[in-house]
Amino acid sequence: MSERVYNFSAGPAVMPITVLEKIQEHMLCLPGVGASIMEISHRSEAFKEILASAQSNLRSLLAIPDDYEVLFIQGGSRLQFSMIPMNLLSPEQPSADYLITGAWGKHSLNEANKHGDMKTVWSGQDTNFDRLPSSGDSGGKWRPTPNAAYLHYTSNETIQGVQFKDVPDTGDTPLVCDMSSDFLHRPVDVSKYGLIYACAQKNAGPAGVTVVIVRKDLIADVSEDLPGYLRYQNHAAADSMMNTPPTFGIYVLKLITDWLQEDIGGLAKMHELNGAQAKLLYDVLDANSEFYEGHAQPECRSLMNVTFRLPSKELTQKFLAEAASKELKSLAGHRSVGGIRASIYNAMPTSGVECLRDFMEDFCKQNS
Ligand code: PMP
Repeated sequence: MSERVYNFSAGPAVMPITVLEKIQEHMLCLPGVGASIMEISHRSEAFKEILASAQSNLRSLLAIPDDYEVLFIQGGSRLQFSMIPMNLLSPEQPSADYLITGAWGKHSLNEANKHGDMKTVWSGQDTNFDRLPSSGDSGGKWRPTPNAAYLHYTSNETIQGVQFKDVPDTGDTPLVCDMSSDFLHRPVDVSKYGLIYACAQKNAGPAGVTVVIVRKDLIADVSEDLPGYLRYQNHAAADSMMNTPPTFGIYVLKLITDWLQEDIGGLAKMHELNGAQAKLLYDVLDANSEFYEGHAQPECRSLMNVTFRLPSKELTQKFLAEAASKELKSLAGHRSVGGIRASIYNAMPTSGVECLRDFMEDFCKQNS
């Protein structure tokens, strides 16, 4: 297949075409360098400039205050599930709070429990994670535990398609957020957080680099007995170069953040575009609710991952096959939710969402 399809993959996911073209253009030779990004030392001036631009692009897109580090770490978001408790728990604060709003929150809790006895302060398990705490009337309330080292939550659950619209209020307890699947899709008040992390492979680049934005005071006094790579302060002291960093991933992250600033015009604009695109699909669900069943309660629907089911397994298979024949690909839902998941990250063109919307309308007419 030589033509690009509309790729609704949940991650690694669609990238902006102009970024792919730039990578292609500079694949053999970065301008002024004489070699490709994959062939130069991470200690070279050329790479150091790329890393510095990637950091400063993130700082300006998210207005990151000076008392926060911006780190590039390998190991994906899953390694953060462990690094967070390893660095942020202490003998004085040996436990932390977790809001469990879906599969990724559960995974993060399971890893954290290897380092202490974490408290689940809210869980959506009983309704198969179709809602969030305090979302409309459905969610229910939660309370932070006194002396918790931090509260961890997942701003967007990639599998279930539920997304927080507001930032949970934890008072003085540092807030830790897995922003893997909605990073860089809207402005964020970083000062409300202790730590934000996001693997790149949805909105920020290829797999292999994970961004960690962390308040400096939280990592300053962490024990040096931790394995070196797993101690945030070592990454901060070496400006993300304590070992060879994922150079290609950081380079692409720099290009994507250039694209967000220059082509899109910043995160408020990106959020507007994402909202308009998601509405196209949710409107079809609402107009045909006897045929399509949305998974998320309406008030916590994700702008990144639209999840819904059809009346039967046979119709789901038919939907996927007919969609694929129209070049609408990677639409199968996760087995725990079933049905369909359309991931419409930042780089999904509106034409792709319109095409899916038209297909959904036709499919409903022909099969109900
Ligand atoms: N958290 C969320 C919300 C995710 O969507 C994912 C990946 N799909 C992860 C964590 C795990 O990321 P990684 O595969 O980079 O470890």
